[in-house]
Amino acid sequence: MTFFRDNIDAMTPYIPGDQPIGGEGIVKLNQNENPYPPSPAALEVLRQFDGGTLRLYPDPMAREFCRTAGEVLGVPPESILVGDGSDDIIIMIARACLAKGRSVVYPVPTFPFYFTQAQVEDAQIVAVPFNDDFSVPIDALIQAGGTVTFVANPGSPTGVAPSTDQLDYLAGKLDGLLVIDEAYVDFADQNALALADRHANVIVLRTLSKGYSLAGLRLGFGVANPSLLAGLLKTKAIYNVGVLSAAVGAAAMADQDYHNECVARIVASRSKLVGDLAGLGFEVVPSQANFVLVRPPGGNAKAVYEALKARGILVRYFKEPPLDDKLRITVGTDKQDAVLVEAMKDLL
Ligand SMILES: *Cc1c(COP(=O)(O)O)cnc(C)c1O
Repeated sequence: MTFFRDNIDAMTPYIPGDQPIGGEGIVKLNQNENPYPPSPAALEVLRQFDGGTLRLYPDPMAREFCRTAGEVLGVPPESILVGDGSDDIIIMIARACLAKGRSVVYPVPTFPFYFTQAQVEDAQIVAVPFNDDFSVPIDALIQAGGTVTFVANPGSPTGVAPSTDQLDYLAGKLDGLLVIDEAYVDFADQNALALADRHANVIVLRTLSKGYSLAGLRLGFGVANPSLLAGLLKTKAIYNVGVLSAAVGAAAMADQDYHNECVARIVASRSKLVGDLAGLGFEVVPSQANFVLVRPPGGNAKAVYEALKARGILVRYFKEPPLDDKLRITVGTDKQDAVLVEAMKDLL
């Protein structure tokens, strides 16, 4: 006896990275969290927050936040839809666009949550393997002709970013919706935000979880043509972003100086980490994100993952090929990265 639809019973749930309780002394490089604290200006808003206002419902559209985000990004606030993290926007897209007989297309390996949501809606799933260098197989994605096509820019867990020109071309060739998931774009050389204006079938997803050190706040958004957002809005939980998240998030986005400083540090640490691991014989996929996908010498990624875990260093291991010989390592502070590199030296 089951309460659930057949496709829900058949599903494998999404498994997040390990989240140690307490976590004292743990070097946590497995969920692509930002190693630096949130903006001091955002933390000040949190400290000064008048708890009495929590009695009232928030603005369902978080318009104040959209105004700030729109100003920072140079897009009209009406082209922004807020979410309880960008995961929430992915759920809205799936609910609004997918069903049995409709299809989801994405290059693999990628963020498994696209697969999860496609399964929830019982949609057909077309997973197109990346090219050997993890570049996006543009022609194969066009050929697949999905109702919804997801491309992460930069990709996760690869860190490889398609060029904006490639995405522009893809958007123009697709009849369906193109979701460009820019969760890690803060750390990349270019972004595809302009495509949300240029193409009626493009939505660009952003989050404050990675680049703004606010994974625990739960705030993300989609940028698209207002007519596209109007459709998604029908599937949104009414008050999906709390007043506290919106206020703290707006202050964080307004503080671009701090954001740029943290990003610059992480990008510098990424180069150093890549050099150090390559020096130890790791194969490193060139990354535009705040993590690196690496293959340890010999390729026994599982053993390395477990040995690191035993030393209190968490990295991400995925057991399915073609990732089962690789590890995804979040770029931490230089100090955290040095602990990791020392441990690797020891293990090899
Ligand atoms: C982290 C991540 C997200 C979403 O993060 P939220 O915390 O829900 O905003 C979306 N896509 C990718 C590829 C991610 O890695």
